Amino acid sequence: MRLIKTVKYVGEMELLSGLSIKGSGNDLSIGGADSEVIKNPITKMPYVPGSSLKGKMRSLLELKYGKLGSEKKKGQLIEDSTPCKCGRKDCFVCTIFGAHMKPGAESAPTRIIVRDCDLSEASVNLVKAIPLENGGFLEEKAENIINRKDGTAGSPRVMERVPAGLKFDVNIVLQIFEGDNEQEMKAKVEEALSLIEDSYLGGSGSRGYGHVKFTGEWV
Ligand SMILES: [Zn+2]
Repeated sequence: MRLIKTVKYVGEMELLSGLSIKGSGNDLSIGGADSEVIKNPITKMPYVPGSSLKGKMRSLLELKYGKLGSEKKKGQLIEDSTPCKCGRKDCFVCTIFGAHMKPGAESAPTRIIVRDCDLSEASVNLVKAIPLENGGFLEEKAENIINRKDGTAGSPRVMERVPAGLKFDVNIVLQIFEGDNEQEMKAKVEEALSLIEDSYLGGSGSRGYGHVKFTGEWV
């Protein structure tokens, strides 16, 4: 296979609500580690791992196009919530995002590279202006789990989240190989981003976290 070129989607992701990255995704589950935004250990600045963004893009496309993984049980095809692992050349999910657990699939190689999203320079300057005494710019939000049986509050936890209004740099690369439909691939990437806008990124989305907006262009 011949690599013809690489194209890049370069832009920004603006937080319209607070963002919590490490969430269980299950609003009723407790007992795990508290949700925490991932921070660069050197700069202490929060960032969105490329794997988080890529995973969300993929799973929302799979949901929309009925591409979630499935396996045969007792002769019946049972859908599960794992990523598509068909590995077929005509499967856009496996072609763009890679066949799940199948590195040598005919759809290989994976076309997309999603870089980590760092805080934009303007947002870094914004948060650097905030004094650290009050715990810095990360919001700490105390939440309780209400026991549905007796209405008592238990297991209080502190959620750390990146406040609304900050922006992250977005950098997505598509490798275009001979025979690839470049326009379709770009359209699917854009569609995935717009599906995230209609959904959420990170943990606790059903409670209003992770509402984001993308702006960017192909270069
Ligand atoms: Zn597939």
